[in-house]
Amino acid sequence: MAANDELSEIYHLARRALECQEQLGHKEIIFEAGHKSDAGPESGVQASSADVQSSSYNQMSLLNEEPSGPGEPEYNSLEEHRAAICNCTKCSLSQTRTKFVYGAGSPRAKIVFIGEAPGRDEDLQGEPFVGRAGKLLDNILTAIKFTRRDVYIGNILKCRPPENRDPQPEEIRACMPHLIEQIRLIKPLVICALGRIAAHCLLDTTTPLGKLRGTWHSFQGIPLIVTYHPAALLRFQQYKRPTWEDMQELMVRYEQLNQG
Ligand code: URA
Ligand code: URA
Repeated sequence: MAANDELSEIYHLARRALECQEQLGHKEIIFEAGHKSDAGPESGVQASSADVQSSSYNQMSLLNEEPSGPGEPEYNSLEEHRAAICNCTKCSLSQTRTKFVYGAGSPRAKIVFIGEAPGRDEDLQGEPFVGRAGKLLDNILTAIKFTRRDVYIGNILKCRPPENRDPQPEEIRACMPHLIEQIRLIKPLVICALGRIAAHCLLDTTTPLGKLRGTWHSFQGIPLIVTYHPAALLRFQQYKRPTWEDMQELMVRYEQLNQG
């Protein structure tokens, strides 16, 4: 391998590992000389990393300060909404996307799962969660006796950030009205935020993911639960059990609301 390729690969691996830890809500990144690079966030010595500070989504007052704008229309169906926004150019991601990833599933879904943003596979196919993390999400759905046609799956951003970098505040601000309209049209009983970025955007907070788990929140009056992102589960086995517990909690609430 040429030295440049090797460097670039190391860079991308390191970046992915940092993003994963950040996704798990850890503001402090753990590094230890000679430590297995796959070590979970609970092991090792702590060294603070300025690069991986949580962005202050709450300072943007995404949802409270400016409602989606005086002219933001409401639609009668997801299909009508999708047709109206699928050529969106409200942010610069429109220039780099391959496909717009609107969301997928049942328009009458009782449970909505919200991830962060399309990755490479999603950008190519125009469908949310179709890559490795998506396969895991499918397994999670199977475990709670659903398929992706029964629920609805969406993302905070509809377009892929280059190199899968974090969504930028202006991108989130531009894109959130789309998601808010989708949720208004679907009217789910419960929402599940997958990972830190979705949780922070939907709840307008910077509280670490670990602290947001295990309790019910609310998004636009709809009960919302937070769990780990499936991509994080791929790396950190120890998050499978807590995620499973979150899913049990989600199902209990869903069943209560679905009967009532
Ligand atoms: N990760 C996400 O957050 N969303 C997707 O659609 C795919 C991967
Ligand atoms: N099981 C898992 O491993 N993760 C989930 O999110 C749900 C069920």
